[in-house]
Amino acid sequence: MKKVEILSVGTELLMGQIANTNAQYISRRFPEIGLGVFYHSVVGDNPKRLADSLFIALKRSDVVVTTGGLGPTQDDLTKETVAAALGIPMVLNENCKEMIEAYFKNIGRDMPKNNYRQAFFPSGSTLMENGMGTAPGCIIETEYEGKEKVVILLPGPPKELVPMFDNCVLPYFKEKAEHRIYSMFLKVIGVGESKVEELLIETIDGQTNPTVATYAKDGIVTIRVTANDENGESPEALVECTVEKICAILGENVYARVDEDPEFTVFRMLKEKSMTMAAAESCTGGLISQKMTAFPGSSAVFKCSTVVYTAESKCKLLGVSADTIEKYGVVSGETALEMVQGICKLSGADCGISVTGYAGPTSDPGMPVGLVFIGIKCFDCEKVHKFIFNGNRERVRTLCAVNAYDLLRRAIKASDNKG
Ligand code: ATP
Ligand code: MG
Repeated sequence: MKKVEILSVGTELLMGQIANTNAQYISRRFPEIGLGVFYHSVVGDNPKRLADSLFIALKRSDVVVTTGGLGPTQDDLTKETVAAALGIPMVLNENCKEMIEAYFKNIGRDMPKNNYRQAFFPSGSTLMENGMGTAPGCIIETEYEGKEKVVILLPGPPKELVPMFDNCVLPYFKEKAEHRIYSMFLKVIGVGESKVEELLIETIDGQTNPTVATYAKDGIVTIRVTANDENGESPEALVECTVEKICAILGENVYARVDEDPEFTVFRMLKEKSMTMAAAESCTGGLISQKMTAFPGSSAVFKCSTVVYTAESKCKLLGVSADTIEKYGVVSGETALEMVQGICKLSGADCGISVTGYAGPTSDPGMPVGLVFIGIKCFDCEKVHKFIFNGNRERVRTLCAVNAYDLLRRAIKASDNKG
């Protein structure tokens, strides 16, 4: 397996001013095409230390991907430093010069002299267009200590790096790969990671093609299935076969066969079925609404939401009965049910979510932090689910939203089977 090293350049990374999300993104994508990321390193905007780090990376890795420092300013020195370290001269790329000039013309600004620097590239390198900015990236194929190496220079801003990585870097390696590789993702809610591994042990134990990898975050388990064609078999067919086996074991707990969040799955389902939803949120404080309205086009499916924090507003806005609250409490299944009924009535939505719980800390004796009731209504079907989530306030709120969408997804699916 080719060893990849990510060398991120930027003093602000070392100072803790920004998180290295670029390295995270690249690390997540490379295994899909069968490349392993073995090292991350970070260096400030300093040519000497950058060159030193590059040599360390070239000694131990086959592919070095740098991020950042491709811009026009004085502290952007990645290209020049890497070229000098490798002993490659910088040459002007006429196409690129014209592209940068056109960019400035397009936005109606004079082009600063400094931007010309961006049109110079290590001789013999392959340029990667930057659709989101002016700094193109490049791929340098070179030799170091008698071994073939690839050095890839990517820009710092994630909105530039991500499309360049997807559109240029992944295809570059796919084309060069000895074996064709195919990956699929399964997303799971309702079974923890260790339980998933236990359930799948017989299916995946000792298996090398496809390989199955799992990781868990925020109540969601992601399973990646990756196969290659080294035995002459189609990687798609190999992956499909294992995916079917896993889905048969995990059943309804698999909410998607692509790498997406549960709210997006619900968004897709609602759109497909021309259905609408609404939400009544207490402890999530708008998180559920925020997740759905993040998608362009969500107005077609999302009617409204209320953040009803106090008992009084639950009664006033949603028509929850004061008696119910008196008798069972604000954090109860009965209140959650009346909340979801109330929001569906108020909005006229086909389905709804309600959440009431203790995100913590709580002053109520006997009421555990993380106790949450989620009400789900889908047409005439109404259900309340009780959870006790572990974690701090932020985590409890996240788990509420993730599980609420998963429960709504299950309810929509169930209504499908009925109809
Ligand atoms: P620009 O043309 O914008 O100067 P650049 O390629 O020179 O781009 P940098 O100057 O190193 O990149 O960084 C620009 C911005 O990109 C940073 O201020 C930061 O917001 C973001 N950025 C840089 N590196 C990373 C990283 N490793 N992870 C996430 N964001 C990053
Ligand atoms: Mg910069």
